[in-house]
Amino acid sequence: MELTAESHSIPLSDGNSIPLIGLGTYADPHETPKGTAYESVKIAIETGYRHIDGALIYYNEHEVGQAIRDKIADGTVKREDIFYCGKLWNTFHPPELVRPTLEKTLTTLQLDYVDLYIIELPMAFKPGDEFYPNDESGKWLYHETDLCATWEVECHPYFTQPKLLEYCRQNGIVIVGYSPLGTSRDPSWVNLKCPPMLEDDLLVSIAKKYNKTTAQVCLRFNVQRGVVVIPKSFSPARIKENFEIFDFSLSDADMKAVEGLNKNIRFVELLRWSDHPEYPFHDDF
Ligand code: NDP
Repeated sequence: MELTAESHSIPLSDGNSIPLIGLGTYADPHETPKGTAYESVKIAIETGYRHIDGALIYYNEHEVGQAIRDKIADGTVKREDIFYCGKLWNTFHPPELVRPTLEKTLTTLQLDYVDLYIIELPMAFKPGDEFYPNDESGKWLYHETDLCATWEVECHPYFTQPKLLEYCRQNGIVIVGYSPLGTSRDPSWVNLKCPPMLEDDLLVSIAKKYNKTTAQVCLRFNVQRGVVVIPKSFSPARIKENFEIFDFSLSDADMKAVEGLNKNIRFVELLRWSDHPEYPFHDDF
C-alpha cells in the first residue's frame, strides 16, 4: 500500500479504518498553559492529521473536543473524517462504571461518539473521586478486577516489539504504538535509564541521508511496518514535521538497521505500580 498524506489509513476487521499517524495529546497539566491542546489539535487537523489520541486523565479533553468541533464547524473536516481515541482510566474499571465514564468523555468532548475506547492501563485502582488513590502512608489503593485486557503498546526503534508484532500480524490485530519518539523524558514517570532516542547516532545518520529529522525516521519506521504512531507535540513546527513522513520511504537495509537498535527497554515502565497484581510489564509481551 502506498502511504500518502491524504491516504494512510489501515483497515480494521469491523470495516472501519485507523490513520497510521495520530496526534498524542498528553502533556503535564501543571506545566501546560490553558488553550495549548486546543491550538495544537486545530493545527494538527489543518496539517492533515485525522487521528487524535486523547484521554480523560490528560485533563484537556474539553480543549481537544472544542478544537475538533471548531474544525468541523469551519468546514475543514467532517466528524466522520476524524478518528478519536478515548480511554477508560484505572478508577473506572468496574463494569457498571464503564458506560457512564464513556458518557462523561462524550459530554466533555461534546461529540456523539468516539471511534475507539480503550482501557488505558489494565490495572484497576480503587473507584472514587480520586484518580490516583492512596492511603495516609502513600500506599496505592488498588482494586480487584478479572480484566481480560487489551491496551496500547509502547513501540519505537528502542523497543521494536518483534514478538508482539508477529502475534498481532497473525491474528489481524493493529498495534498503536505510544511514545513513538521516546517520550518527553519527564523524570516523574519516564525510565531515564534508556538513552534519548532522538540523539541516537544511527538514527541521526539515517536522517541525514534522507534529509529528514530523527523524529521523522522513527515515525516512518513504524508506519512503514504497519504500526500506528501517535507522536505528541504541542509545537506547531513539530506537529507539521511529524506529519511529513509520507514523502520518503526507508530502504529495506535501513529498516533492518533501525530494527537492530532494539534494546527491549521501556520508556514507560510504571514501576511505582509494579506490585499491582495485574501489572502488565512482567510478561514477555
Ligand atoms: P512521544 O514519544 O510522542 O514524545 C513527545 C515528546 O517529544 C514531547 O516532549 C514533544 O515536545 C517532543 N517532540 C515531538 N515532536 C518532536 C520532534 N519532531 N522532534 C523533537 N522532539 C519532538 O511521547 P508521549 O509519551 O507523549 O507519547 C505520545 C502519546 O501517546 C501521548 O501524548 C498520549 O496521547 C499517548 N500515550 C498513551 C499511554 C497509555 O498508557 N495509554 C502512555 C503514554 C502515551 P513538544 O510538544 O514540545 O514538541
